[in-house]
Amino acid sequence: MKDCGDCGLCCKLMGVTELAKPAGRWCGHFRRTVGCDAYDARPASCRAFNCTWLLTDALNEGWKPSVCGFLMHSDAGRLIVECDPSRPQAWRAAPYRETLERWAVRGQEVLIFAGRRGLRLNPDATTTALRRR
Ligand code: SF4
Ligand code: SF4
Repeated sequence: MKDCGDCGLCCKLMGVTELAKPAGRWCGHFRRTVGCDAYDARPASCRAFNCTWLLTDALNEGWKPSVCGFLMHSDAGRLIVECDPSRPQAWRAAPYRETLERWAVRGQEVLIFAGRRGLRLNPDATTTALRRR
């Protein structure tokens, strides 16, 4: 079983409803050296969240969110790639882009966001621009 270690990128990229924490901003409970300072009392949505890297043995350390600059999670069968706004193009580097495109060609819906702007990788290797509300 993997562990988050020094990552914490979801504490920046994901919104937390219970804390009225917007997506894309560090949570006030996150401490760079120790992680969550409210770990035992963290909200249910924090307890429930596991990124795809954490859940997938086949994804190596290069896909750890703090290393690659994006985290992935599933939403209704879609693979959502949430990019760190400070590294919005990191997903385009090798081997990430070609791997994400390969998954899309195989039929996995892949949506990539940096803040509100995003794109869908289509099975025919084209992309469609998206805007998130
Ligand atoms: S992004 Fe993934 S690996 Fe990083 S802290 Fe969150 S769940 Fe753990
Ligand atoms: S409460 Fe803790 S686990 Fe939840 S987002 Fe904030 S720092 Fe992360």
